[in-house]
Amino acid sequence: MIPLCLKSVVKLKRVDDTEKQSQLDLLMEYYKEHPKRNIRHPEVVDWAVAEWKKRTGKVFRDPDRGIRRLSQDGLLIKVGKGVYKYDPDFVANRDLENFTEAQKQEIMKRDGYHCVVCGLGPEHGVELQVDHIKPKDKGGKATIENGETLCAKHNFQKKNYKQTESGKRYFIRLYEAAKANKDKQLQDFCRQVLEVYEKNRVNGQIVWKK
Ligand SMILES: [Zn+2]
Repeated sequence: MIPLCLKSVVKLKRVDDTEKQSQLDLLMEYYKEHPKRNIRHPEVVDWAVAEWKKRTGKVFRDPDRGIRRLSQDGLLIKVGKGVYKYDPDFVANRDLENFTEAQKQEIMKRDGYHCVVCGLGPEHGVELQVDHIKPKDKGGKATIENGETLCAKHNFQKKNYKQTESGKRYFIRLYEAAKANKDKQLQDFCRQVLEVYEKNRVNGQIVWKK
């Protein structure tokens, strides 16, 4: 029996990801045994690695990544750097912020059944997913306006390469400042950097108005 709050995660996973899912379940097991307590990474990681070894005989690689994933999925609250907590009330609220099937259909229809970053769709063999523009763990709601259609690749990129976002935003700000100061050279430099972002379709959800 899978706990209700984990069902949303399970749905997102493919069948070949069952081992990864079991690892996430294992991590959750620890947090659920210690609800509403701020827990540092090492405490959970050490337990999970030992427990996984005991149960499966295998090595649990990168449990830190699993913890981040659980936080992104709204199952854990990030309290500080490397500190997370499980709060059953919070999770119940988070579940409300998942899109319903009807909402997903409406969002995909609005976006023309194409990824809003690369424009690819099922006819190009890509899987479409509906993403929260403002993430759930930052208070993003399950509204049509807060939804966007992404292909699996760009959804993955958005979730896993957040650190590149501040880079793009930085160069956009610098570009604007250079433009205001009529600093042609700096403006040119920023334009070139931003064009590299666009050419590689990195952080396409951040719009740079030239
Ligand atoms: Zn895409």
